[in-house]
Amino acid sequence: MQRLQAFKYELRPDGQQQRQMRRFAGSCRFVFNKALALQRARYEQGEKKLGYAGLCKELTAWRNGSETPWLKDAPVHPLQQTLKDLERAYANFFAKRADFPRFKKKGQSDSLRYPDPKQIKLDQGNARIFLPKLGWLRYRNSREVLGTVKNVTVSLSGGKWFVSIQTEREVEQPLPQSTTAVGIDMGIARFATLSDGSHLEPLNSFKRHETALRKAQQAMSRKTTFSNNWKKAKARVQRIHSRIGNTRRDYLHKATSTISQNHAMVCIEHLQVRNMSKSGAGSTEKPGTNVRAKSGLNKAILDQGWFEFRRQLDYKLAWNGGYLIAVPPQNTSRTCPACGHVSKDNRQTQAQFACVECGFEENADLVGAINILRAGHARFACEVSDAVRSPAAGTRRGESVPAD
Ligand SMILES: [Zn+2]
Repeated sequence: MQRLQAFKYELRPDGQQQRQMRRFAGSCRFVFNKALALQRARYEQGEKKLGYAGLCKELTAWRNGSETPWLKDAPVHPLQQTLKDLERAYANFFAKRADFPRFKKKGQSDSLRYPDPKQIKLDQGNARIFLPKLGWLRYRNSREVLGTVKNVTVSLSGGKWFVSIQTEREVEQPLPQSTTAVGIDMGIARFATLSDGSHLEPLNSFKRHETALRKAQQAMSRKTTFSNNWKKAKARVQRIHSRIGNTRRDYLHKATSTISQNHAMVCIEHLQVRNMSKSGAGSTEKPGTNVRAKSGLNKAILDQGWFEFRRQLDYKLAWNGGYLIAVPPQNTSRTCPACGHVSKDNRQTQAQFACVECGFEENADLVGAINILRAGHARFACEVSDAVRSPAAGTRRGESVPAD
């Protein structure tokens, strides 16, 4: 099987290269926002959305026009890639996987992606990489890059520049070490509950850093905007943000590695951002539960944690020869695993499940996980028979790519 993998390193750019990368990332952001504004304007005038080719034509005009001549200084491929990103953001929105595309702000995922391997030179012996318009960039060589280079992303995080080298290589189809299956229920009080009775604690990395972050943000708000002290305070806020991100990623990596090594099949609910966003607030007659946990930044982090957890499980299982099965979330929290009775009365509180028909009692998250596992078994049987009927319709596997 083909394995796609990303190798990420910290860059050691000189001053000139840092300035260039900041400018190019800014140009990418500018193009993304300009294209998004254009699509919105077209929509309001009742015109059709431009496709990728149409947007590329606009980009050429912007680069050659008199209004934004500086766009010509930036490498063209990364600019086009941001148009692809915008296309994907729209596709995710239409598929209800994500909210409507938003304008990008400075300092928020500053990055540029080079898609053409022919323009990239990797010199591992000297720990350097050549990128168009940036030249040779040194990086901290922490491990060997395996496979052929497909594309390269340069990004800024916590004041440091990183390079992520995406590669492809042929590896043997692994056989799963384990033969067990497990269902997972994602939640607030417990981040994940497994049908074998174990569970993962909530992602509290944010809580632990919350006070530090709040203090840093307050300190920043007291400074004069754009003054040197303000910039220092802002850098501090960003450092805390990236520390939170790192802690969370480590935690998720450990959890998903353990699960994917111990199980051949993992069943999980379909997640949709829009559902999660809506379930938080509830309505005035019927206020939602865990409003605090689901609101604002907390919610964003939860959502992100769930998606990241699932993404990692998906590719790690594929690497180990296992399967991730997504099931629709219908009735998984209301069905009695003992007698099969479905009723919302079975769940009197958030934490406890008690069947009104047969009296079966258990932790509600565990009941959810058991039902998800059952639904997963049923779905897996269908997918296998589908794949036998038409092999081409089988799901693409092993194509997910870790971001770090
Ligand atoms: Zn029952």
